[in-house]
Amino acid sequence: MSSNSGIQIPSRLPLLCTHDGVLLPGSTMRISVDTARNMQLVKSRLLKGTSLQSTIIGFIPNTRDPEHDSDELPSLHSIGTAGLVVQVVGSNWPKPHYTLLITGLCRFRVTQLLREKPFPVAKVEQLDKLEQYTEGDQADGELEELSQRFYQAAVQLVGMLDMSVPVVAKLRRLLDSLPKETLPDVLASMIRTSNKEKLQVLDAVDLEERFKKALPLLTRQIEGLKLLQKTRKLRPDDDKRVLAIRKGGVFPGRQFSLDEDGEDEDGDDTAMLEKKVKAAAMPEAALRVCLKELKRLKKMPQSMPEYALTRNYLEMMVELPWSKSSTDCLDIRAARVLLDNDHYAMEKLKRRVLEYLAVRQLKSTLKGPILCFVGPPGVGKTSVGRSIARTLGREFHRIALGGVCDQSDIRGHRRTYVGSMPGRIINGLKTVGVNNPVMTKTNMGCISPPINCVLYQVLDPEQNHSFTDHYLNVPFDLSQVLFIATANTMATIPPALLDRMEVLQVPGYTQEEKVEIAHRHLIPHQLEQHGLTPQQLQIPQDTTKDIISKYTREAGVRSLERKIGAICRAVAVKFAEGHKVFRAESPTEQHADQNTENKEEDSGIAAPPEMPIVIDPIALKDILGPPVFEMEVSERLTLPGVAIGLAWTPMGGEIMFVEASRMEGEGQLTLTGQLGDVMKESAHLAISWLRSNAKTYLLTNGSADPLEGTDIHLHFPAGAVTKDGPSAGVTIVTCLASLLSGRLVRSDVAMTGEITLRGLVLPVGGIKDKVLAAHRANLKRVIIPKRNEKDLEEIPPRVRADLDFVFASTLDEVLNAAFDGGFPAAVSHPQVVSKL
Ligand code: ADP
Repeated sequence: MSSNSGIQIPSRLPLLCTHDGVLLPGSTMRISVDTARNMQLVKSRLLKGTSLQSTIIGFIPNTRDPEHDSDELPSLHSIGTAGLVVQVVGSNWPKPHYTLLITGLCRFRVTQLLREKPFPVAKVEQLDKLEQYTEGDQADGELEELSQRFYQAAVQLVGMLDMSVPVVAKLRRLLDSLPKETLPDVLASMIRTSNKEKLQVLDAVDLEERFKKALPLLTRQIEGLKLLQKTRKLRPDDDKRVLAIRKGGVFPGRQFSLDEDGEDEDGDDTAMLEKKVKAAAMPEAALRVCLKELKRLKKMPQSMPEYALTRNYLEMMVELPWSKSSTDCLDIRAARVLLDNDHYAMEKLKRRVLEYLAVRQLKSTLKGPILCFVGPPGVGKTSVGRSIARTLGREFHRIALGGVCDQSDIRGHRRTYVGSMPGRIINGLKTVGVNNPVMTKTNMGCISPPINCVLYQVLDPEQNHSFTDHYLNVPFDLSQVLFIATANTMATIPPALLDRMEVLQVPGYTQEEKVEIAHRHLIPHQLEQHGLTPQQLQIPQDTTKDIISKYTREAGVRSLERKIGAICRAVAVKFAEGHKVFRAESPTEQHADQNTENKEEDSGIAAPPEMPIVIDPIALKDILGPPVFEMEVSERLTLPGVAIGLAWTPMGGEIMFVEASRMEGEGQLTLTGQLGDVMKESAHLAISWLRSNAKTYLLTNGSADPLEGTDIHLHFPAGAVTKDGPSAGVTIVTCLASLLSGRLVRSDVAMTGEITLRGLVLPVGGIKDKVLAAHRANLKRVIIPKRNEKDLEEIPPRVRADLDFVFASTLDEVLNAAFDGGFPAAVSHPQVVSKL
């Protein structure tokens, strides 16, 4: 740049230290400034100052790793480039920063640091005195020869570029008009060089040395281009791949560089993006939108926040699997084997899933119902979904809807918001990269009405071929996605959605099933996860039973899996330490934990553990602590006024102790515990029935009304889950009958059933889960309404055999079955038969 020749820079310069690259004299560069020091410099020198001189700053390449940059001023690189700041653009997004456009003028050396804060200012000595070379010193033959060679190489390089590009033609003209001494700097900043190489050129104060440093770089670039052109000739269809020429550079306001792939800088990005848009095979509507956005993007300055927004949008659009799908490879026989291998029990569910898959195989365009697995947590709903994906050879993605409270979570934010992004469905598709994955939507029941509305559109086969995400703002076809919904309870799924789905109940597991699941699946899986082998750790069946009954109380197997995980961790630690702590021998020895430790300390060597480590009850207690759930049933039924009911909650069945006590008062009924309105009504019904039948059952306590002068307090302890439902009716009656008669209810009986004022017992729901809960609690007799008898079919035969079922149609039958020796009425009770 011949205009440089007369430049005299100020002797004191503010210094800008940056990692953004190396500015060479004669080139222009855009750098982003966001450190406190540099921001201060921009504010006080560039934004406030008005003179031309104040826009000249010293640019020092920061050689320190940006990760370790601190407030402290790093030791400064001694040579820098004085630059003229041509443009300053400020932005607050994504964080406060300035973008500066700087043109390099000449080198300088820092002679003395004058101050460090708020930004460094130094006394400098100008190094490039360009006129010196152009005027005299022609005699230096070597330098002359070097500069000639360099010039020719530069001409060769430009000759290899496409002259029809205006910027290339201009560069060709510039080569002739620029003084040769400036060429190393100008070309080194344009060709593909690393920052380290540029730094070497900057440090080469001596002109001859500078030519020597820059020439190999130039030759390398020429060789690279030659290679590229050769390969391009082999692939003529790739002709459109223009040499990456970034606009700008020596021309102020723009940056210029020659680059083979242009991946790392933005100038050529739009061309790449355009190519990607065209290759994305998107539908007509989406393509139109993308091309329009692309056009806008090309016209936008990069420092505009909208530039980033539009770019992100386009990148998202090209990454979506518009027409990319995996091929289904369904073999029903293999699918059956796979489902059986992955999951123990759940026969009904597996059968229905196979039917569903078989139909899909016969008719691939099936717009069938969406499967919805309903059951307590941890019973394998999601994992069946994953297996379905595997049998079909499809990708799997899980979307958890629990806690989603905003519809834009599903449908995305409109692009006008800063930080807007697509919803979970589109994001999921982007992640899996195909448009036909298996997607499970868990926790369908726990969501708000507007979200249900969106889900309705997503799941409905009639509508989902044109699902519009707010962010994309063009329809995306979801009809290839195989949706599987899961929920803990059907009750909270809106009817319109339920109508579109085929509900498959997944009930909780019995203890035996859990033991099998643990040994077939959970233990091997956890061993593998923790890097252990069955030769190192063994968990006998009895221990598994103990874990199930003493450390977990759940319908599914999730806690069980966690507990097994805890055991594996403990054992893994022991192996890692090389200690020997768990031994399956005598319990007394095991208890003497301290002794063991002392012994080890004495010997001073950590012995490797004995193989395999068998988890016996003592080791189990060591690892998991004292049992969390003791079977307290018999202890709690030692006083009159306690009965065991069976409740259904979304978490599965539960046993529930109903307690009653009486005290002097005015016939008040107090209810406490987690209860809903229906429960309160049941309590009132129960009391009314007992009062009207007090004489029959000799509960009068002398007076005509058993509640005269008495307050009754009913309590439903245990569990934070609200128990709403009429099914506690029979339990409340039994509990009150026990209280008023002073007799104990049998401690091994649990019951469920709705009552009427006339003493009839009506059927209730959730029988299977309730019976399983009673079985889990080791109870022996279960009283259920007569009309629920048919529901017993669903219960595994082994559980049925363990329990004694009493089918009651009247309260009289309930009371007789609940008390040892029956609950005889004084006068024969008129038999009421349910006509309902
Ligand atoms: P859900 O979706 O019903 O809450 P998950 O599918 O997340 O439950 O299952 C929890 C864990 O239990 C998973 O690791 C799963 O593999 C395991 N699991 C549940 N049921 C079975 C089963 N019948 N056989 C094997 N593993 C099971």
